[in-house]
Amino acid sequence: MAKETHHRLIILGSGPAGYTAAIYAGRANLKPILIQGMQPGGQLTTTTEVDNFPGFEHGIQGPELMEKMRAQAERFDATMVYDTIVATDLKTRPMRLTADSGDLYTCDALIIATGASARWLGLESEQKLKGFGVSACATCDGFFFRGQEIAVVGGGNTAAEEAIFLTHFASKVYLVHRRDQLRAEKVMQDKVRDNPKIVPVWDSVIEEILGEPGQGGVSGIRVKNVKTGQSSELPLTGVFIAIGHSPNTAIFGDQLETIDGGYLVTRPDSTATAIPGVFAAGDVQDRHYRQAVTAAGTGCMAALEAERFLAE
Ligand code: NDP
Repeated sequence: MAKETHHRLIILGSGPAGYTAAIYAGRANLKPILIQGMQPGGQLTTTTEVDNFPGFEHGIQGPELMEKMRAQAERFDATMVYDTIVATDLKTRPMRLTADSGDLYTCDALIIATGASARWLGLESEQKLKGFGVSACATCDGFFFRGQEIAVVGGGNTAAEEAIFLTHFASKVYLVHRRDQLRAEKVMQDKVRDNPKIVPVWDSVIEEILGEPGQGGVSGIRVKNVKTGQSSELPLTGVFIAIGHSPNTAIFGDQLETIDGGYLVTRPDSTATAIPGVFAAGDVQDRHYRQAVTAAGTGCMAALEAERFLAE
């Protein structure tokens, strides 16, 4: 039977922002509950090596880093709830959150750390072939493309990182980008350039992903060169979309102000939203940095601000 429980502080999301908020709120004796969401551990559980999180001089695997953060939060009495919130009412007091399980959670303060999800190109053929050779997660699905030719779409750090990772399996990785240079960091650009298995396809966009789900899935892509207008086909068996992420804010409807494609608006130098007692941390409100360490930093800020709010 569905149950109703009340908590002083609820944290939504289990990435670096959510776990850091839980560590700080736990240490402040707020006994927070952290509702994990659809992807426990968040985006970092789908990456491999994290090389730039301070404190790990030789790097650390993304899933292991998240495990450590969760364990650290639990050490300070944060309770993990393996459920997903599907509806919210932030204007009532206490605030009301309805979970997928049917359970109702109410709270006096809320930290939103729901992160962001992979963006898609929006092609009909992409939609049709998702799971049949089209993916947005190289670490989840790269293994299936051993010895095959595949493509990665995008020009940022994610695209560069996924292309490099996929060369462990694929025989050739086309990196399809709509401009003639990557926006990825210099060190990533160098790694891409020096990898003989990566073949850049500059100034190009995918017009259609070829193939049928029932007939072996992806069989190729039709790309258009945006400078010449010419289209050509590349035979391949997998397409990885790595064109950035969109913040996960659908469950808040129009209760909170958003900017630039859905990022939650917070006050300058603060994680406070326009609703008293509602704070936002991590990728859901960060359109500039989107790093694990900055997410952790704003998670800390949100917990300190929530503590102050509850004390008042
Ligand atoms: P970015 O927003 O940095 O890059 C998205 C890329 O996709 C851009 O090259 C963009 O092209 C391209 N793109 C966007 N929309 C389309 C479209 N509709 N069709 C074709 N191409 C498209 O996203 P990332 O996910 O790469 O990175 C997000 C953040 O995470 C960044 O801050 C990045 O630094 C960080 N990150 C850090 C890592 C690390 O430090 N190890 C690893 C991964 C990510 P254009 O260049 O023309 O805009």
